Amino acid sequence: MLQISVVIPVFNEEESLPELHNWIQRVMDGNAFSYEIIFVNDGSTDQSWSEIVRLGQINPHVKGINFVRNYGKSAALDIGFGKAQGEVVITMDADMQDSPDEIPELYEMVIDQGFEIVSGWKKKRHDPFTKTVPSKFFNWVTRVISGIKLHDFNCGLKAYKNKVVKNIHIYGEMHRYIPLIAKWNGFSKIGEKVVEHRPRKYGETKFGIERFVNGFLDLISVSFVNRYKKKPMHFFGFLGTVSFLTGFIITSWLIFEKVYGVYRGLRVRDITDQPLFFLALVALIVGVQLFLTGFLAEMMTSNTSRKADYNIDEEFNFEG
Ligand code: UDP
Ligand code: MG
Repeated sequence: MLQISVVIPVFNEEESLPELHNWIQRVMDGNAFSYEIIFVNDGSTDQSWSEIVRLGQINPHVKGINFVRNYGKSAALDIGFGKAQGEVVITMDADMQDSPDEIPELYEMVIDQGFEIVSGWKKKRHDPFTKTVPSKFFNWVTRVISGIKLHDFNCGLKAYKNKVVKNIHIYGEMHRYIPLIAKWNGFSKIGEKVVEHRPRKYGETKFGIERFVNGFLDLISVSFVNRYKKKPMHFFGFLGTVSFLTGFIITSWLIFEKVYGVYRGLRVRDITDQPLFFLALVALIVGVQLFLTGFLAEMMTSNTSRKADYNIDEEFNFEG
């Protein structure tokens, strides 16, 4: 088994790749690590892929995967996670904002200190405040929701025990929440390391402000799916039952009122003339609908398996 896999998502980063590669190679050779570098080209429109192929020809430790189009950073990491053979898997951005000099210490924290995940913390960030301020807020919310004491969930530089990456699947904007997803999957030895953050040297950021909205929606769907995917019936069934019972109680009351009124010789309006009756009717129908939704979801989730939703155009240097 290799000691280290470095997984790098690449979207239009042609200028950085040679420098980044040389730097990683220097660190690996300097520490005599056995390693692989997996570059995942996420639909770049520049020369990133031919650059990766060229690096693979001069360094057999370099492996490449070329997506047919841009699927996003999470998909790129996900495919790399599936392929990674290293005992420790390190993710890193391609733009050289993360320093490969952190690798030996990250490796040490996983192997010797027993962390399942070590997340980088860009304590001194070299980004404009339009990015750092929302990001502070996001980290705070995520910390409160998850109970995980990290300062910087979204740092691209992270290290994992191999079994962690084999047991989590990410898509959409979920790369921002890997520590949460890992924790939900049973990996809770999560550590943090202050890392150097460097200004972007070439190109520009690929993420705008809309990433925060998307990130939030993914967080909600991930939390929901995680909690109820094995028992959707519990969620829909509960709501459905509450709704149905509400309708049932109201209707029973109206019937009782009418029957009692007739018995006592009072003048009581017909049930169908009572505004409450319509509320009851809606509650009864919604209740049944919700219940059936839960039932269908239960049937569907009990026999679907997860399928990767991205296509690979080419790959190289993966043997077997
Ligand atoms: N990236 C990617 N697919 C995308 C967007 C970004 O693979 O659709 C990669 C990008 O090439 C870089 C990393 O994800 O290696 C982080 O992107 P970026 O530096 O733009 O994010 P920021 O540092 O501004 O948060
Ligand atoms: Mg960056």
